[in-house]
Amino acid sequence: TVPVLELRNVTKTYRVGQGFMKPKATLTAVGGVSLTVARGEVHALVGESGSGKSTLAKLLLGLIAPSSGEIRIDGVPIGETDRREVARRIQPVFQDPYSSLNPRKSVADLVALPLVAHGIGSSAERQAKVAEMLDAVGLPRRVIDAYPNQLSGGQRQRVAIARALVMRPDVLICDEPTSALDVSVQAQILNLLMDLKREFRLTYFFISHNLAVVEHLADRVAVMYLGRIVEERGREGLFGAPAHPYSRALLDSVLTPDPDLGMPEAGISGAFPNPIDPPSGCTFHPRCPRAFERCSREAPASVAFADGFATCHLAVPVPTPISASVSG
Ligand code: SF4
Ligand code: MG
Repeated sequence: TVPVLELRNVTKTYRVGQGFMKPKATLTAVGGVSLTVARGEVHALVGESGSGKSTLAKLLLGLIAPSSGEIRIDGVPIGETDRREVARRIQPVFQDPYSSLNPRKSVADLVALPLVAHGIGSSAERQAKVAEMLDAVGLPRRVIDAYPNQLSGGQRQRVAIARALVMRPDVLICDEPTSALDVSVQAQILNLLMDLKREFRLTYFFISHNLAVVEHLADRVAVMYLGRIVEERGREGLFGAPAHPYSRALLDSVLTPDPDLGMPEAGISGAFPNPIDPPSGCTFHPRCPRAFERCSREAPASVAFADGFATCHLAVPVPTPISASVSG
């Protein structure tokens, strides 16, 4: 079957200034990423802040174009798909529901916005759809005339989810959807997302630095470092036997506080490298506890596993289990 989303060798570079009188440099935010997301799965993307996760989200949403490579939706390149159709089928849920919701618009207007933008339905039909979506996300109908500042953080994120759902999309791109919320509210929103996934037959591309959350809900996990996917595995493989030293380091720092909330990142030694001047060879080598001489000279190739791949000189190919090849 055709994957709902597919990235083929997608790269996004920027020309950036380095200061007065210095030449511009090239920053590779996303470098040669290939990924497939099957319909109905939760595909997580993890990595430290600055690894390129949000750039990848913007590429998938069609908000920015790749510098090279191709993104396909249901097998059709995004460039050959109608822009409005892309916008209908792939909807975002961002980290901070306050900054993503216009404070001067009521809940009714906020949720109806995509319908208005796409010219769908009469005003009465739109109102009925808004009410239906508020029910679906567990908001009381009395909030329909409220403004974002009259709602709690959790309620605001429910409004953002209602707005994402109103177009009946196939895929939600969730970029740290709960990391700006109180811990007590996070679980409620995650449970809501999982309920909605069943009810609306959704596929999630789920960006998070919180591996406890990812272990709870992901089917597959891609680990990103300096713009590249260094490991991509089924959930059990990644959490049970991570093959890349960076994945292992991330797993060892599961309780790391949220860097996006201004807290320090712990658990992985060494500073995150400057993406304008990435380390030679394996870009993780200055921080890798297992690095050896070859690592700074030679970029590792991708090693295939039964459930994915890892990009490390030390990764050992694993043969496909007999049960998997029998069941096809
Ligand atoms: Fe570490 Fe070398 Fe593997 Fe890179 S290739 S992750 S430096 S062991
Ligand atoms: Mg980010």
